[in-house]
Parts: sequence; C-alpha cells; structure tokens
Amino acid sequence: MKTCATKKEEGRSRIRGMTKRLWIETVGCQMNVLDSELVVAALRRQGWEMAPAADAADAVFYNTCSVRQHAEDKIYSALGRIRSVKAKRPDVVVGVLGCMAQKDQELIRKRAPWVDLVVGPGQLHQVPSLVDDVLAGGGPRIEVSLDRKAGSRDAIARSFESYDPDRDAAMRPTPFQAFIRTQTGCDKFCAFCVVPHVRGPEQARPPETIVAEARKLVEEGCREITLIGQTVNSYKWSDGGRTTRLADLLALLDAIDGLDRIKFVTNYPRDMTDDLIAAVRDLPKVCHYLHVPAQHGSDDVLGRMKRGYTIGEYMEMYGRIRVAIPHAAVTSDFIVGFCGETDAEFQTTLDLVKTVGFKNSFIFKYSPRPGTKAFDRLPDDVPEEVKKERNRLLLDAQEEASLAGNRRFVGTREQVLVEGLSARDEKRAVDPGPDGVAQLTGRTMCDRIVVFDAPTRLVGRLVDIDILAAGAWSLSGVVADGLADAVPLDALTYSGEATPLYDISLPNPKPQAATSEPPRS
Ligand code: SAH
Repeated sequence: MKTCATKKEEGRSRIRGMTKRLWIETVGCQMNVLDSELVVAALRRQGWEMAPAADAADAVFYNTCSVRQHAEDKIYSALGRIRSVKAKRPDVVVGVLGCMAQKDQELIRKRAPWVDLVVGPGQLHQVPSLVDDVLAGGGPRIEVSLDRKAGSRDAIARSFESYDPDRDAAMRPTPFQAFIRTQTGCDKFCAFCVVPHVRGPEQARPPETIVAEARKLVEEGCREITLIGQTVNSYKWSDGGRTTRLADLLALLDAIDGLDRIKFVTNYPRDMTDDLIAAVRDLPKVCHYLHVPAQHGSDDVLGRMKRGYTIGEYMEMYGRIRVAIPHAAVTSDFIVGFCGETDAEFQTTLDLVKTVGFKNSFIFKYSPRPGTKAFDRLPDDVPEEVKKERNRLLLDAQEEASLAGNRRFVGTREQVLVEGLSARDEKRAVDPGPDGVAQLTGRTMCDRIVVFDAPTRLVGRLVDIDILAAGAWSLSGVVADGLADAVPLDALTYSGEATPLYDISLPNPKPQAATSEPPRS
C-alpha cells in the first residue's frame, strides 16, 4: 500500500517553502498499516507533507513485513530502485521501518548501505527525532529492540515500547474506519512464525486507553473500529484485582454512541471462549465475523507447527460459534507445504476447507523464517512445485466453498457500510461527484463485500442493499427500495442444521493430541 499526497496536498507542496515531503510504502498486515498511519501523523505534526512520488520526497520510508520471504524480497528490490534517487540526492533520508528492521538489523545496511535509518516496531516513536538527526548530518542509525532470548521477559518487553501517539484522521484510508491496537507482540511461538521474534512479548494496552481512543475516533466521524492484535482474543488486562478480557472490552466499546460497527482480528482458536462468542452474539455493534486461522487440517502437522490444538478441538470451537451465531462468517488462514507435509496430510486440509465452508481463507506457501523453531529443526522439504500445486488446489476448494456460502445471500437484504468506489471504478478513476452514481463497494455485518450502483454521497453510511447475485469473492445488488420479500440477516439460518457442525468428522491420519507441549496462554 502506498500513502501518497492528495491533489490538494500536492498543490500545497508546490508552494512549500522549507516543508519536507515524505513518501511511505507499507507491506504486511493491518498492524503495519496502523504503524504507518501513526508515523505519518507524527511527522505531519512536525510540518512534513506527503510527497506525490518516491523520487520527489525528502524522506522515503518502507514499513516492512517479515512473515514470508516474498515480503522481504519486495522491500530489498524497492531499496535497489531507490538507490539511484539517493545517488542523485544524497540528502534524501531512506528508512526501513518495522518487522524486517527488527529481524535483519545491520544486514539491511550491509545489503543496501544507502539506507540511513533502520527502526524496529518497538522504536517507531523515535522516528521524528531520528530523521532530524540524520538531516542534521548525524549519520545512519539503527534502533531495534532486544532479541527474545537476550534478557528477562520484562527487559525484553520494555525494549518493545508500545507505539500509540495521537491519531491523525487525515491519514486513515477512510475517515469512517479505523484500526485500534489492543495489544502488541505475541507469545504463541508457532513453529513457522517470525512474529513473536520481531514484535516482542505480548503486552496489552489498558482498556481505558483503548476506549478513550475509540471515543475520540468516533467524535472525528469514525463509524467502524477494527481492534487488532496478533492474537486479539488473548487480550487480558489485570488491574487492582479486576481483569478485563476481550469480551469485556467489546461491551465497553459497544456502549459508545455514534459507533456502528466493531470488528476484531486475528483470533487464536484456543482463546475463542464462550463468553467472547456470547459477546459477539449479543452486542449489537459487534460484527458476526470471526477470523480464526486453523492453519492446517492434520493433527500431525498442527503438532509440528506447535499450534497447541488438535483439529478436533478446532471443530469443537467452530461448532460453538455455529450453534451460538448460525450465520456468522468464519474465516481462516492456511499454510501449504509445511515441513514434511505428505499428500495425505495435505488432503486433510483440503477436506477441512470443503467440509467447513469458511467464508474465505488466506492461503500461503510455507516460507522458512530464520529464528523460528521450524527453521532450526525441520527441513523445508516440500518442493516449490508441490507447494504451488497444493496452493492452487486449496484455492480452488475455497473458491467453491465461498461461492456456495455467498449464494445463500441472494434474495436477502443486507445492511452495508459503504466504503468507496468499487475496484472497477477506482481503476477507471471515476469521479462522478457526490450526487453522481458510481459503482460502490461496502461490507455486510458478516464482512461480505457487496457491489452496487449508488450516489457517491452514500460513502461512509449504512445502507440496505437487496442482494441479487453472488460470486465467490463478492455479492452484488441494488439499494433497497422496501421490497417486501427481502429477508433480514437474522432470519438467515445456516444450511444443514440437522447435523451439529462439531460432529463433522474429518479424516486425520492420527486423531490424537497435536502436541505434547502444555496449552499456551
Ligand atoms: N498473528 C497475525 C499475523 C500472523 S501472519 C495474524 O494471525 O494475523 C498471518 C498468516 O501468515 C498466518 O496466520 C499464517 O497462515 C501465515 N504465515 C505465518 N508465517 C508463515 C510462514 N513462515 N510461511 C507461510 N505463511 C506464514
């Protein structure tokens, strides 16, 4: 994602005196999107403006991701491209921020010596002063947190300072949607995952801070808040004998006047407790959308991944969601080609996707990450061609499941938060003005994308849409005109109620405990 200047800002920057201009490219998850928003806000408060392109900027930042090799490769090639700009204008500050900065540290400057700043996710609050130092001729700087094995948990946690400065409404993708961080870091240590190493120990933010931030955002016009944490449903804040968990936090946020929708990502299956499911069911503003990655369908592979649950336990959790909220959209992540994955093991993932009917799944080919247990102990022995083929097969299965799931909505009426122009009209650079009709896109309470024609002034508003057609990735419809036969969302029941979903048996080579490790908190 690129954050660049609006036309108005561009105009202003042409007449800028000494104003410095910033270009930032963001890859990775929502956490990175939020971090970039905050870094930009901090610099704007110091008078920086957004540049229209990287080669017109006084500082070029890359906010990076280390989850897969591909994300890192993208950044190293972008650094290669910026080299010529730096050669022409040596005073341009080039910065690598975020997860790759924490993971690669000095290696970044070895591979790209023209980089001035390497700043980990725990040091982002220092960016404004670091940029000033570099501009004042202070030379390159590397600011990162302690390694996860470099000291006590407390010392390591302190080295990953939480980054929660004031927000800047102008920097959000839309003024009516915002991310709020509930916690930083992760303590799950899944064998494949670099996140606990680059984002540090899990540290919750106080509920009062989160609620105050939400209130302020709502005052500024925000209508939908997405809470983000690496495992957001592990959220726990203890204070003077009182413990606040995610379900409690949702209740506090639900009470905020003017807020319409609350979402939260990403969930860890073992922490999907009954009280949380009940909160999602009962609190009117909480979306019936739960992203709970299963990662794999085989107990053996889940064991090797150190995920801390069996597929039977995952299905039990899934069944509890289905019974409580029949129409909830459940989505997942999967990794194909993890160390030692056999054809039979892959088949279990395929069967899981075909049986469960996730609304959608994010599917990834395993990418070995230095520093993780899998990298140290298990060979990456599934050939790339096999990974590709499994990726394709799983995508096909998910596409079929998504289409079947979406077709159930044809003929229903859905309330949609209108997000903006559809991808088609965005590409065509359509600008029909507030009363002009364009193809717009929005999302239902279940996070389904809906495309429809409507005046652009509806952007940011909740609108009822009658759903006329379904594809695998989106629904399409028309703005409701009071059709009597449209079915409201709550009347929609999940098909196949005759079989409780947690009774579905999935083929597993060895149906026993996935791991001998104690349950993870
Ligand atoms: N905790 C966050 C970020 C995890 S990364 C979250 O759950 O959203 C997001 C997804 O990337 C994971 O769920 C997993 O499916 C995938 N992933 C993580 N490490 C990976 C690796 N080494 N190779 C391939 N995919 C990986």
